[in-house]
Amino acid sequence: MPNPAILTVDDDPAVSRAVARDMRRRYGDRYRIVRAESGLDALDALREIKLRGEQVAVLLADYRMPQMNGIQFLEAAMDLFPLARRVLLTAYADTDAAIDAINIVDLDHYLLKPWNPPEEKLYPVVDAMLEAWLATPDVAIPETKVVGHRWSARSFAVRDFLARNLVPYRWLLADEPEGGRLLTAAGMAATDVPVVITSDGKALARPSETDLAAHVGLSTTPALDFYDLAVVGAGPAGLGSAVYGASEGLKTVLVEQRATGGQAGQSSRIENYLGFPDGVSGAQLTERARRQALKFQAELLTTREVVGLERCGSATVLRFGDGTTIAAHTVVLATGVSYRLLDAPGLADLTGRGVFYGSASTEAPNCSGEEIYIVGGANSAGQAAVYFSQYAHKVHILIRGDDLGRSMSQYLIDQIDAIPSIEVHPNTRVIEGEGGDHLERLTLCDQKSGRTRTVDTSWLFVFIGAEPRTDWLGGAVARDGNGFVLTGPDLLAEGRRPAGWSLPRDPYHLESSMPGVFAAGDVRAGSVKRVASAVGEGAMAVSLVHRYLEAQ
Ligand SMILES: Cc1cc2nc3c(=O)[nH]c(=O)nc-3n(C[C@H](O)[C@H](O)[C@H](O)COP(=O)(O)OP(=O)(O)OC[C@H]3O[C@@H](n4cnc5c(N)ncnc54)[C@H](O)[C@@H]3O)c2cc1C
Repeated sequence: MPNPAILTVDDDPAVSRAVARDMRRRYGDRYRIVRAESGLDALDALREIKLRGEQVAVLLADYRMPQMNGIQFLEAAMDLFPLARRVLLTAYADTDAAIDAINIVDLDHYLLKPWNPPEEKLYPVVDAMLEAWLATPDVAIPETKVVGHRWSARSFAVRDFLARNLVPYRWLLADEPEGGRLLTAAGMAATDVPVVITSDGKALARPSETDLAAHVGLSTTPALDFYDLAVVGAGPAGLGSAVYGASEGLKTVLVEQRATGGQAGQSSRIENYLGFPDGVSGAQLTERARRQALKFQAELLTTREVVGLERCGSATVLRFGDGTTIAAHTVVLATGVSYRLLDAPGLADLTGRGVFYGSASTEAPNCSGEEIYIVGGANSAGQAAVYFSQYAHKVHILIRGDDLGRSMSQYLIDQIDAIPSIEVHPNTRVIEGEGGDHLERLTLCDQKSGRTRTVDTSWLFVFIGAEPRTDWLGGAVARDGNGFVLTGPDLLAEGRRPAGWSLPRDPYHLESSMPGVFAAGDVRAGSVKRVASAVGEGAMAVSLVHRYLEAQ
């Protein structure tokens, strides 16, 4: 983090240089001395400093400047750095103006020119200003900043994307003072939000995920045209394939449409993954796996959705949403599953504005002291209930069945039983959601009695069943009736190999109906929907990739 700035502005170049020189001599080791020769240039410099999240300790402005005098400059500077100490440099003749400025811009001091010797006239004043500023400095925010509205689906999507890609950021509301100051510095208005300000000070209004990825240092463009192994989907299965593939010398690319970690990245605490007796959060596991993949030189592309797969000679070509392609000797499909949407009137419009799919852990602190509703009876819903109970005043779990026993692991049921603020409502469905700019009410139905009731809440988290993400495959590889990719023995109908199969051998265990294209993890028909099995299948697919390549 650079040192806090002291900014001096004077339209006379000789005077401007002299002030900066004197300031640098005394404060240059602890403060950055920024010099400008007009109020407008000085304001530009302040905007840049603000966007980069750095601090300004003292503003030293000459009074008599054309276009914008020192008082006008200090007034505008207060919109950006209200806590910076303000000093006006005046000639004796302008003393009255300086006295007026004490009220207008809450001036801390005025200094008469000339200020020689600085040891007597300048430094004691600036020392006092710095001492006062250090007692209540403005806050440095060096990380990425997101300025948005509380109940905006687009603001949520941006925060969720950054959080899931493990990019640290600071969230600021547009209608709070610091959020407003950042918008001013970026020359933007509240209607432009969400505005993302990168750590190097670039402001992006309503960025797409691809824009965002490129600006926060996530790679989006492939370095090569051709790879040994292309892995589609960076959940546990894809990360597993990438780590094993790259570590075993295959030129490996891992393509992810949204954020590394997949479903596991959303898990607040995975308690049953081997080697983590105290549990591990999805974010931690993802971060380690991603570092491991990069360490072995796997290439990771984010915000690239694969929309087509076809065979071209001995290579497989993957097509991205923007029409560009990459090719590889072998492919691992690890596209997992995504949550089914809850079908009740009113909910679709409120998605991201109180209705969330998955745990949306970025929202947890906002639920402090509130009542929240979770739909679903599987482990993912149970984990979310335990996690949100640390913030929410009350957590309601709505399930269709009589109890959690059939769908949730016993260790989670025990945890839920031990938390008094969690209540389970059996045989209960959401039949309607209502609200203005965000969710305000839910109508619930007791399936046994048929009775309905309306509850006030702003929070609904949905965890109901999941569907494979395979529509984009079309007929390229065989899938079962639910869309899961068929592999290995499942492809053999009464001992016959799948239609179009060209090799004199049966498909390998995780191989799809297209030779050299494998499936691992939740997307595979018959897979066990667990982190450990996804990672295991990702690793196993790589050993089959080697076998396939050796026979080519
Ligand atoms: C909240 C939650 C908690 C869970 N807790 C546990 C637990 O405690 N223990 C446990 O064992 N399991 C748990 N699970 C299940 C576990 O997370 C999954 O079984 C596991 O993540 C499956 O891994 P995967 O790699 O097969 O698929 P996913 O994790 O679904 O990852 C697939 C990835 O592919 C990407 N993708 C999809 N389509 C494309 C495309 N066309 N182009 C590019 N990328 C694409 C997706 O964006 C996604 O990142 C939990 C799941 C959830 C949601």
